[in-house]
Amino acid sequence: MYVKKSLGQHFLRSERALTTIRDGADPKGDDIVLEIGPGEGVLTKILLAFAGKVVAVEKDDQLFESLKQKFSNEIESKKLDLVHGDILEFDPNLLKFYRDFTYKLVANIPYNITGAILEKFLSADYQPERIVLLVQKEVAERVVAKGAKESILSISVKVYGKPKYIETVKAGSFVPAPKVDSAILLIEGISKDFFAKFSEVAFFKLLRTGFGSKRKKLSSNLAKIYPKLEILNTFELLGLNENSRAEDVSPETWQKLAEKLCV
Ligand code: SAH
Repeated sequence: MYVKKSLGQHFLRSERALTTIRDGADPKGDDIVLEIGPGEGVLTKILLAFAGKVVAVEKDDQLFESLKQKFSNEIESKKLDLVHGDILEFDPNLLKFYRDFTYKLVANIPYNITGAILEKFLSADYQPERIVLLVQKEVAERVVAKGAKESILSISVKVYGKPKYIETVKAGSFVPAPKVDSAILLIEGISKDFFAKFSEVAFFKLLRTGFGSKRKKLSSNLAKIYPKLEILNTFELLGLNENSRAEDVSPETWQKLAEKLCV
């Protein structure tokens, strides 16, 4: 079987997982779905049956060629746009060409670029309305941080949308099997509303500074770029304990902090 390790190729073989991904994406007749790394096209086929249009970006030369043949009818009827290239170089604005409303992003992605894909599409000028991704189980757990500590990763996702851990997908559901289990991660309600009163750039500087040194309190980390007195006054105003750690602060409180400090 044809497998290129460098491109993180693990082909999904579980009908159940494919159905769950489809349900998470909830593709409707007038939806545009952007699929990353269609591979052999198992997911593509299902998406084509439900969505109005699928745009699929595949980097691998050989897979691209066989997808072109496999879906020649769909390509001809313009139901499928098959793009040969690297998703990290793909301009989401191109999707406005089809319909200037929004789109859904769906992918069983190469795990080494999970972070880059999340960052690229969550912060894009033209954002998807929802994202359904297969990611490493541990990454999905860290993103939702349910009943656990927040991290730069979890807050960076939650400021743009609502992440949900949908379901675990065992390593054996893929060929070849990856070393670790995976999970289907859904991010809904994606927008930039969080950033109404301050810029994204200023916010991420605040966030990274706040998480700066793991052993330090949030207020001490923030004292690197803000006057200590201003920090303490802000904490008091927000009813935030002076001894709080960055990992215990909710997205809502980060927003309030940014409204005071990022001006
Ligand atoms: N979605 C398919 C294949 C998953 S394997 C399935 O579920 O079976 C990951 C796929 O992403 C492979 O087809 C690989 O060639 C492709 N890929 C890897 N890096 C990529 C990149 N940077 N841009 C687009 N596709 C990429």
